[in-house]
Amino acid sequence: MGDGASHAYLVALGSNQRHVRGGRPARIIDRAVEALCQRGLAVEAVSAVVTSAPVGPSQRRYANAAALIRTGLAPLDLLAELQSIETDFGRRRRGQRWRSRTLDLDIVLWSGGIFDTPGLSIPHPAFREREFVLGPLLETGRDWRDPVTGLAVRHLRARLVKPRPLRL
Ligand code: ATP
Ligand code: CA
Ligand code: CA
Repeated sequence: MGDGASHAYLVALGSNQRHVRGGRPARIIDRAVEALCQRGLAVEAVSAVVTSAPVGPSQRRYANAAALIRTGLAPLDLLAELQSIETDFGRRRRGQRWRSRTLDLDIVLWSGGIFDTPGLSIPHPAFREREFVLGPLLETGRDWRDPVTGLAVRHLRARLVKPRPLRL
C-alpha cells in the first residue's frame, strides 16, 4: 500500500539463463521493465542492458540493467511486488518453461537512506563490489549517494574498476 509519500528506488535487474529457451536474456530484461510498468510503478529511467557472451559448457548467459522507479510503495511493499514479478517469470509462459531464476530484481538504493530489516537491506549489501550492478547504475543514478560509505555511485564504480597495484 502507498503511504502517501513518493519514493525513488534504484532497482537492479538481472537474468541468468543456461539456455535461450525463454528468449534472450536481454529480452527478458525488456519484458521485466514492461512488467514493472504494468504493476503501476513509474519507471523514470532504464539503463542499457549489459549482456555477456555465453560462458562455460552450459552456455550460461547473463544480462543486467538498472531502473529508476518512483512509487508510493514503502520498501517491503515494493519488494513484495518485485518478488511477485520474479515468480511470474518463473512460471510456464506461452508453452515455454523458464527456469525459476530467470529474473532477479534487487532494490539497490532508495530515497529514504538506510533501511534494514531481516528480510530487506537497503542499500543492497553486495552492490559496491558488483560491476554488473554499478555499471548500469551509472546511467540511472550516477549522482546517488550510498548512505553507508557516503560515496556517490560514480565514485563507487571508479573505485571498483580502478587498477590496483600488485602487492608482492
Ligand atoms: P544477492 O542478494 O547476493 O544478489 P540473490 O539476489 O540471488 O542474491 P535472492 O534469492 O534473490 O538472492 O534473495 C534472497 C533474499 O534477499 C530475498 O528473499 C529478500 O528477502 C532478501 N533481500 C535483502 N535485501 C534485499 C534487497 N535490497 N533487494 C532484494 N532482496 C533483498
Ligand atoms: Ca541479486
Ligand atoms: Ca534477489
